[in-house]
Amino acid sequence: MSERGKRTNLVHGGTKRSQWNEVSEAIFLTQGFVYDNAEAAEARFLNTGPDEYIYARYGNPTVAMFEERMALLEGAEDGFACASGMAAVNGALTSMLKAGDHVVSAKALFGSCLYILEDVLGRFGVDVTFVDGANLDEWRAAMRPDTKAVFFESMSNPTLEVIDIAGVAAIAHEVGALVVVDNVFSTPVYSKAIEQGADVVVYSTTKHVDGQGRCLGGIILGTKDHIRGVVEPYMKHTGGSLSPFNAWVMLKGLETVALRVRAQTEGAVAIAKACEGHPKLERFIYPGLKSHPQYDLAMRQLGAGGTMLSLVLKGGKEAAFRFLNALEIAIISNNLGDAKSIVTHPATTTHQRLSDETRADLGISDGLVRFSVGIEDPADLVADVLQALDAV
Ligand SMILES: *Cc1c(COP(=O)(O)O)cnc(C)c1O
Repeated sequence: MSERGKRTNLVHGGTKRSQWNEVSEAIFLTQGFVYDNAEAAEARFLNTGPDEYIYARYGNPTVAMFEERMALLEGAEDGFACASGMAAVNGALTSMLKAGDHVVSAKALFGSCLYILEDVLGRFGVDVTFVDGANLDEWRAAMRPDTKAVFFESMSNPTLEVIDIAGVAAIAHEVGALVVVDNVFSTPVYSKAIEQGADVVVYSTTKHVDGQGRCLGGIILGTKDHIRGVVEPYMKHTGGSLSPFNAWVMLKGLETVALRVRAQTEGAVAIAKACEGHPKLERFIYPGLKSHPQYDLAMRQLGAGGTMLSLVLKGGKEAAFRFLNALEIAIISNNLGDAKSIVTHPATTTHQRLSDETRADLGISDGLVRFSVGIEDPADLVADVLQALDAV
């Protein structure tokens, strides 16, 4: 049969049925597996017998179904599921780096990613150079013969700057560095990161993949050789594996992720059309608007503007807080990619710990509100945003 489409794979891909032929994927909520005899146990640990399970930190049937379905969605050969997005980011980097290596990273990073790049890696003797991710000249200038990896979020949080995966990959591959992309804001639904040159793609599946605010999870995707040869040995011995229960929730999330992400995008486009140029706004940021400085790149890289918006209100923190408090549908929280619309004030929450200078450098002003668009009726979301802007 010819290659199946994403939506078909999201419903059927990776399914392995037990002897009962259940319709819904089974949760194998077990940490261990029984061996028929002592010889079988020995063979499994020696890896000479059939490829079966040993211990849930190493692998589990429900987790394996999730890994296979995610790999099909991303177009990757393989994946290793992790306990959270941060377990995935940490595992993707520390599994392949050693003291003396050099890494080049974009400087606009999720706070915990910044902690790993800025603090953890340095303590183990890895040298990290930070660059403006949107500036290919800075990437080029930062590369060294000992550069082993480059790291960036393909769409930055919360300023929604799109980083050119193909452009950075061409530069990194010249010195043989692996391209590690945190692709959360781009979503696995729109991602074509591997064909654009990414070697390792990381997701927090807490976001769009669960998409219903229930579980933490993450995944590292790449070639079979890299995932099974480099990532798995590190992950299975250091404890960041995904729980089978969370894998099952994520499998159910995958069945609907493409429908949800497209509905979210529809809402984002509707809000963007209604808000662009609004007199209460200093700036409205959405990569799916022609006015976004990287609109062409967003269309080439993703084919859509995605599910996230940022509104910069005139009047700083006070105006931003009035706007947040006046919203009646969108809730104030800090997750994203959820079925529910969620608003965040990064300067006082997710990015509070950054210095004033760093926030200014990253464009995170006191008036900026991040809006993760949910699957509610677009007309209701537009009405909610407009009435909240009126209240400012
Ligand atoms: C949320 C997020 C993470 C971390 O994911 P968790 O599942 O919360 O550990 C990493 N990178 C990006 C871009 C994120 O949005």
